[in-house]
Amino acid sequence: MGLTPMMQQYLQVKENYKDCILFFRLGDFYEMFFEDAKTASKELELVLTGRDCGLDERAPMCGIPYHAANNYIGRLINKGYKIAICEQLEDPSLAKGIVKRDVIKIYTPGTFTDSGFLEETKNNYIMSLYVSSTDNYMGISFADISTGDFTSTYSRLDNSVIIDEISKFNPKELILQDNIDVEILDSIRDRFQPLITFKDDSFFVADAIDNLKTQFKNFNAEQYHKSLHFSVNALSKYILETQKFVLSNIDRLDYYNATNYVSIDINSRRNLELTETLREKNKKGSLLWVLDKTNTAMGGRELRKWVEQPLINMELINSRLDAVEELIDKTPLHQDLIDSLKQIYDIERITGKISTKSVTAKELLALKNSVAKIPEVKNLLSKFSSKLLTNMCDNIDELQDIYDLLEQSINENPPISVKEGNLIKDGFNETIDELRSAKAHGKDWIASLESREREVTGIKSLKVGYNKVFGYYIEISNANKSLVPDGRYIRKQTLSNCERYITPELKEMEDKILGSEEKLINIEYELFVSIRDQVESHIDRVKNTARILAELDCLSSLALIALENNFCKPEMSEFGEIDIKGGKHPVIDKILPTGAFVSNDTLLDNKEEQLILITGPNMAGKSTYMRQVALIVLMAQIGSFVPAESAKIAICDKIFTRIGASDDLSAGKSTFMVEMWEVANILKNATNRSLILLDEVGRGTSTYDGLSIAWSVIEYICNTEGLKSKTLFATHYHELTKLEGMISGVKNYSVSVKEIKSEIVFLRKIVPGGIDQSYGIEVAKLAGLPEPVIERAKELLLHLEQTESSENKDIVIFNNDEESKTNVEAVKKNDIENISLKETAVTHAKDIVQLSFTDIEKDNLIKELISTDILNLTPMEGFNKLYELIRKAKTLK
Ligand code: ADP
Ligand code: MG
Repeated sequence: MGLTPMMQQYLQVKENYKDCILFFRLGDFYEMFFEDAKTASKELELVLTGRDCGLDERAPMCGIPYHAANNYIGRLINKGYKIAICEQLEDPSLAKGIVKRDVIKIYTPGTFTDSGFLEETKNNYIMSLYVSSTDNYMGISFADISTGDFTSTYSRLDNSVIIDEISKFNPKELILQDNIDVEILDSIRDRFQPLITFKDDSFFVADAIDNLKTQFKNFNAEQYHKSLHFSVNALSKYILETQKFVLSNIDRLDYYNATNYVSIDINSRRNLELTETLREKNKKGSLLWVLDKTNTAMGGRELRKWVEQPLINMELINSRLDAVEELIDKTPLHQDLIDSLKQIYDIERITGKISTKSVTAKELLALKNSVAKIPEVKNLLSKFSSKLLTNMCDNIDELQDIYDLLEQSINENPPISVKEGNLIKDGFNETIDELRSAKAHGKDWIASLESREREVTGIKSLKVGYNKVFGYYIEISNANKSLVPDGRYIRKQTLSNCERYITPELKEMEDKILGSEEKLINIEYELFVSIRDQVESHIDRVKNTARILAELDCLSSLALIALENNFCKPEMSEFGEIDIKGGKHPVIDKILPTGAFVSNDTLLDNKEEQLILITGPNMAGKSTYMRQVALIVLMAQIGSFVPAESAKIAICDKIFTRIGASDDLSAGKSTFMVEMWEVANILKNATNRSLILLDEVGRGTSTYDGLSIAWSVIEYICNTEGLKSKTLFATHYHELTKLEGMISGVKNYSVSVKEIKSEIVFLRKIVPGGIDQSYGIEVAKLAGLPEPVIERAKELLLHLEQTESSENKDIVIFNNDEESKTNVEAVKKNDIENISLKETAVTHAKDIVQLSFTDIEKDNLIKELISTDILNLTPMEGFNKLYELIRKAKTLK
C-alpha cells in the first residue's frame, strides 16, 4: 500500500516547512497531520482524529475551520510557533486530478501583524544578528513590518552590546547564524526567550548588495561595514520568505549608532523600571507610565523608543526641551494640537496593511479622516518658533492628493470585507453607477411586485421573498392557494403551510439584479485594489508624515505632564555638575498621596562631590533617592522636564546601576557572583561622564568581604584617571563614612531619621554627614516582629557591644580569611600611614563584631547544615550552598 496522492502532496509541501506547523487547506478546513496535529491538538485543545493516508496506520489529524483561523494562529504564535499556510491554488471544481496547493504565507511571532495580536503602543520587532568570524565585527538589524521600521547598526563584536540591544528592542524573534558561537547563544538564551531561527552563512551573505539595493531606496553600498549588510540581508530575505512578496513599506534603512544614545545595560534598564516594573512587568509604575500622555498609537510607540533611548547630543536634547517649553508657554495652541492629534488614527500601521495588501476600506477611510487633520496641525505648527516644531511644520506633508483620491472614491460606510461591494462612492466610476442603477431598478420593480400581485389576485397575505437556493419567489399560504388565477404563476416549491411560485418576468429581473451585483462586486474590488496601489505608491510620504506626527505627539505628551506636575526645564551642559534642587522620584511621587513625597537636593561633580556615600537605616529611602537622581538625568536626556525646582544636568554617556537582588538568580548564578559580575562590568566600562548607582554593594557576602570590596571599589572609582564617575553609593557599612577626607571626591550624606522613645521616624531628608547607627532593631520593630524577639535582640546587642575587646576588633578588620586579606591590602597601607583609620576600624568594629563571636556562629553553622534540604536543590544551588558553608566555616577557624 502506498501513500494517497493527497498525502504525497502534503508531505512534499511539509518537506520545505519543517520548522512550521503546516495548515493544509482541505475545503473549508485547515488540517494538520502527524506531529503537527499532535502539537496543535495539545496546544489548542483540539480533538485529535485520524485519516487514512494509504499506510497501515491512520495519520493523526486535527483541523480548524478556515474562517476562524486567525484566532488559532494568534494562540500558536503566542506560544512561539511558526505557522505555514498552505492554500488551494485552483478552484477544486475545475481542477483535473488533485488540486494544486502551496504555502502562501508563513506567520511567525516576529512577523505576525494581526491587529488582535499586536499591542497598539508597542513595536513588534524581529531581529537578525550577523557575526563575522574573520574580523570580529557584528551587524544587528531590527524590523517591525507592521510599521515599516527597519533599523540597523554594526560594531566590534561585543556580547554585552548584543544583550543590551535585545533588551532595548525586545524582539519576538531572532535570526541567527547556525554556527553562532555557543557562548553568545547561551548568554541570549539565559536572559530572553525569543523564537530563534537559524540560517546558514550563505543566507546572510549571498547577493547582499543587490538585495539591499532593491529593497531600500536610500541604500549606499559604500556606507557601513559588511557585517551590517549581511544582517540586513538576512532579515529582509526572511521577511520575504514569510510574506512571499516584497513589502513596499520597508523602503528605508535607518542606520543607528548605539553610541548616540545613553548606554544603559540590561540590569540598569530593569532596575530603573524605564518601561515596565521589575517584578510584575507592568507599564504602570514605570517611567514610561508617568511620561505617556500621548494621543496616538504612533506617538505611544515613539515615546517608548525615546524612553528606551535617551540622547547624549546636547543640541538634540535642547531642541526637544525648547519645543516642550514652547508648547507649555502656548497652552491654548497646544490644546488645539492635542484635539487634532486625538482624531488621528494609526497611520503607520495602516501603511503596513497597505503594503501587505490586507488593508480594508474602513482603514483607508480612517487614513483619509486622519489626513484630513494634517492641514490643521500644520497651521497650528506654523505659530510656533522653536527649531523642532518649525522643522516639523516645514516637513509635514498635507497629503492633499491622497485625501482627494480617498474622499472621491471610498464609500463612507463600507463593509468590513472588500469582496462584498459597496466600497466605492456613487459618481466615481461610470460602469459602477450604471450597474447600481440597473440593480436598483430591479429591486424597485420587485418591491412593487407584492402590492401589484395582491391587487390582481385579491390575496392580502401574498408575499415576495428571497432565499439563496431559489432566489426570488411569491409565497401564498395553503388557505389561499385556490385563489391563484390559473396559469399566472409557475409552482416552484411546496412547504407544509404554503406554496412558493415564480414568474418568467420575476426570474428575468432576478438575473439582472444578481448579475449586476456580481459584476459590481468584481469591479468594485478591482477599483479598490487600484486605489490602494495608488496610495501605496506614495507610502514613503505617508510614513514620513506619520513619523512627524508621532514625534509631535511625544513632545505634546512631555509638555502636558510637565505642566500638570509642575516639572522644571533642566539646564543641560556637556560636562560639569549635576545640581538638582528639590528633586523628586517621578514615579513614587505619583504613587504616594499628593504632597507625601519628600523632595531632596543632589550635587554631584567630578571633584569634591564625586562619590556620594549615603548611609541610613533600612527603609529610610536610600534606594529611592538614588533611582530618583538617575531618572531625573534620564528624563532630561529624553527631552523631558524634570520633577525638581531646578536642575543643572551634565549629560551622562552611560548609566550603571547595581541595585538590590537580581533576578538572574534563576539563571543558576549566586547573587554574589551576579553582583560582582555587574560591578566588574561597571568598573570596566564607566567613564568620567558616567553616572553610577551602587546600592549595598557587598551585601551578598560576609561582612568583612563585603566591606573590603565596597571600600576598594570606592577607591578605584575615585582614584582611577578616566573613571572618576559621578557615583551614588548607598551602604549600611558605617565604616565607609570614614573615607570622606581620606579619598578625594567622597562625600558623606545620610537619610535622616528621628528617634522618639526608641521608635524611629523616617524623615526622608538627605542631609550632609554620615550616620553611625543602623537602627536595625527599630526597623524590625516597625515591621512587626513580636515584642519578645525585639527585647531579646536588644539584650543581645547590648551584650555583644559590651563583650567586645579591642584585640578582637583588630582581628575583625584585619585578620580575616585569605580572600579579605588581599582585599584590604590598600586599607592596610593606609593603616600604617594613618592612625585615625585604625581608630576608625576600632570604633566601628562593634557593628560587625558579632561575627567574631565564634560560638554563636559555629552554632548557627551547624543549624544551617542540619536544615539544608539537599534533595531539593539543583546541582548549581547545591554547589553554591556548599561554597557558602565552607566559606563560613573558614571564617570560624
Ligand atoms: P532604603 O533603600 O533606604 O531601604 P527605600 O528607598 O527602599 O529605602 O525606601 C523605602 C520606602 O520609603 C519606599 O518604598 C518609599 O515608599 C518611601 N520613601 C522613600 N523615599 C521617600 C521620600 N523622599 N518621600 C516619601 N517617601 C519615601
Ligand atoms: Mg535599599
